[in-house]
Amino acid sequence: MDPDEVYRSLAAALRRANDATAKNERDIAGLHALVDQLVYLLSRRGELAPGHKKALERIREQAARDVRPKVRLRMYVDKYQVPGGDIDCEARLPLCHGRCCAFSFELTTQDLDEGKVRWEVLEPYLIRHEPDGYCTHIERGSLGCSIYHDRPAACRGFDCRGDARVWIDFENRIPAPMPDGLVRPRPGSLLG
Ligand code: SF4
Ligand code: SF4
Repeated sequence: MDPDEVYRSLAAALRRANDATAKNERDIAGLHALVDQLVYLLSRRGELAPGHKKALERIREQAARDVRPKVRLRMYVDKYQVPGGDIDCEARLPLCHGRCCAFSFELTTQDLDEGKVRWEVLEPYLIRHEPDGYCTHIERGSLGCSIYHDRPAACRGFDCRGDARVWIDFENRIPAPMPDGLVRPRPGSLLG
């Protein structure tokens, strides 16, 4: 099977798992409300001893510890309607080193349906990064986006002006220090 087909099948399977998880969460929330109400009524009638209440609290704490990480999806927005920023990125790349493309963010179902944007297989559906810390889709060297026309909504709408991870002073072009371990990728260092 070709890798793109495998990727699309995996995306569809994870989306189904996500829908099932959402339904389970709704059911569990309903059960929680019911149990809370029962405990309240039993307490009011004096049917619960302090030991019972402590045991219930322990069960609740244990359940909270057992919660597994969730599949993360950004709320749907048509990315082609997201207005692009008016920052001259090309002129600023020597200062910022395109570090916004090292940030982590969630994709939308639109990205998954299109099948062009890669995501972290172990953390669906966050944009995928490579070991150098940058997005899979950044062109190592030029720092251009290799999927520019299909890039996610978060990339289109991002505005770094007030972001302290990027600038100490945007107007005066003073960049913040690069995050620990992040180095501008060299041409051909990975994928580009
Ligand atoms: S950090 Fe700001 S200036 Fe640099 S590439 Fe990203 S949006 Fe453009
Ligand atoms: S998809 Fe493109 S614009 Fe978005 S983070 Fe990756 S390289 Fe940057």
